[in-house]
Amino acid sequence: MADIEENKIEAASDSASAGNFIKSEIIKDIAPDGRFAGMEVITRFPPEPNGCLHIGHVKALCIDFGMAEQFGGRCNLRMDDTNPTKEKQEFIHSIENDIHWLGFEWSNYCFASAYFDETYEYAVELIKKGLAYVCELSPEQVHEMRGDYNTPATSPYRDRPIEESLDLFSRMKNGEFPDGAMTLRAKIDLASGNWNMRDPVIYRIKHETHHQTGDKWCIYPMYDLAHPIGDALEGVTHSLCSLEYEDHRPLYNWVVDNVSVPSKPRQIEFARLNIDYTVLSKRKLRRLIEDKVVSGWDDPRMPTLAALRRRGYSPAAIRSFCDQIGVAKNSSTVQWGFLEYCLRNELNENATRAMAVLNPIKLIITNYPEGLTEQFEVENNPQKPESGTRTIDFGREIYIEADDFMEVPEKKYFRMFPGNYVRLKGTYIVKCTGCKKDEFGNVTEVYAEYDESTRGGNPSEGMKVKGTIHWVNCGTAIDAEVRLFERLFDIPDPDSANVDFMEHINPNSLTVLKNCKLEPSLANARPGDGFQFLRLGYFCVDSEDSSPEHLVFNRSVELKDSYSKK
Ligand code: ATP
Ligand code: MG
Repeated sequence: MADIEENKIEAASDSASAGNFIKSEIIKDIAPDGRFAGMEVITRFPPEPNGCLHIGHVKALCIDFGMAEQFGGRCNLRMDDTNPTKEKQEFIHSIENDIHWLGFEWSNYCFASAYFDETYEYAVELIKKGLAYVCELSPEQVHEMRGDYNTPATSPYRDRPIEESLDLFSRMKNGEFPDGAMTLRAKIDLASGNWNMRDPVIYRIKHETHHQTGDKWCIYPMYDLAHPIGDALEGVTHSLCSLEYEDHRPLYNWVVDNVSVPSKPRQIEFARLNIDYTVLSKRKLRRLIEDKVVSGWDDPRMPTLAALRRRGYSPAAIRSFCDQIGVAKNSSTVQWGFLEYCLRNELNENATRAMAVLNPIKLIITNYPEGLTEQFEVENNPQKPESGTRTIDFGREIYIEADDFMEVPEKKYFRMFPGNYVRLKGTYIVKCTGCKKDEFGNVTEVYAEYDESTRGGNPSEGMKVKGTIHWVNCGTAIDAEVRLFERLFDIPDPDSANVDFMEHINPNSLTVLKNCKLEPSLANARPGDGFQFLRLGYFCVDSEDSSPEHLVFNRSVELKDSYSKK
């Protein structure tokens, strides 16, 4: 817990002092002597629709939309669909949905592919200026001839006449050549210390149907060409992206400086969000799905927005997390526990309280009248008196957690054991009198006697009561399945480059409990509804598998950060 608090304070001061350095840069840029003096601030979020958004993307979203909002500008959504191979319509819908769910509203919405015509024309412009050429080296040959720090790269096609490149490029477009036969390369600097500037490929042949443009194109621009052009065509002023694009910035600038685009946007990079015990890469997340480690993009153990939503996270909790981690320039790893801390804070305020027993055992109150059922008024949420009260039933037979009874108590065990007094939450104090066991020695029933004068939970003279336990009335309890989650990985850094993340799956990441007993008020819970189950944590109704006939709850988060302690 202490770690989490420190983490929070560190993060908060980071965002306050080092600032939002992006914000400072924008302020300079729009000042009267700045490069965008008097202009509206326009940003964009450019997801590639080859997977669902994850919590890392939320950081980018908060920065892109947040900056536009702070400066009274606009943020566009642009699907980066330059690689038709891996992209899918389902991901496009899921991305749109996630962005709206978080509460962001884009200004202009389009696809990088909407600019394929213009992008092609700008490529032709580059060839005409002697700044691009058609190269017939295979990817392997390009790799072999890329040189090293002391030796420049080479290509025998670099000095091919402009007319020849123009002709070949147009024939590439017309489908005369197979995939990989040739590429268009920018003619920049074969000796550059920056590999991205060593005549990067800017167009390649791919005979593939595109989800937006169909079969119109068989050549596709690379991101490094399409992205600055898209930005410039949309009048984006600030193209904000994560740090791995820093080495691409010289190429970004080279493109906007060398083609006749209507504006010259500025790229600024920020640190990627890393979180411990998870992986934030669509490629790795896809692998987890393909190898059936998880059930899909929305498996509640995944770091995707679809999964977090299913797990019971609200947009407010997620955005609060992003606000607090701030916008730093240097990469750092945030604890998953901090995300949970943000969720817990919110649920503590807002979640309705209820009682549920996950591993039930029957407690029989032997001196309680048979057939009697009493009603007790309890608060729905002590944090919010306005949320009212509800009645819970109490009777002679109730369920308690199996581990709230020990025939022979261990040290400091204050719950049910023969001779001990225990408070049954909200009702009476009972004295445990014993238990019944089956032929294998397993406890099958627990017995106790109640004291009528303790109604409301107040001990009578001389009673020592240290434990309070939750319970559910047998007569009216409803059945449910409850799913408990732990970290998906068993090491803090499964995402680091030298680790095989598939070798570090936590075998206990999912526990399914099929025989849980809930108080009857939960029968009306709808998918997504969140509750605090007393002593057990925060839970929500599963949006995929739950139905009125078969309720399924997910544990969103435990009441305390037990993980840091371990
Ligand atoms: P992944 O590696 O998960 O596939 P990506 O960068 O390829 O991520 P994109 O769809 O291209 O995914 O990302 C859209 C935007 O989100 C980019 O501008 C990228 O900088 C940003 N982004 C992606 N991951 C993170 C992260 N972990 N932290 C911050 N920003 C991120
Ligand atoms: Mg990408």
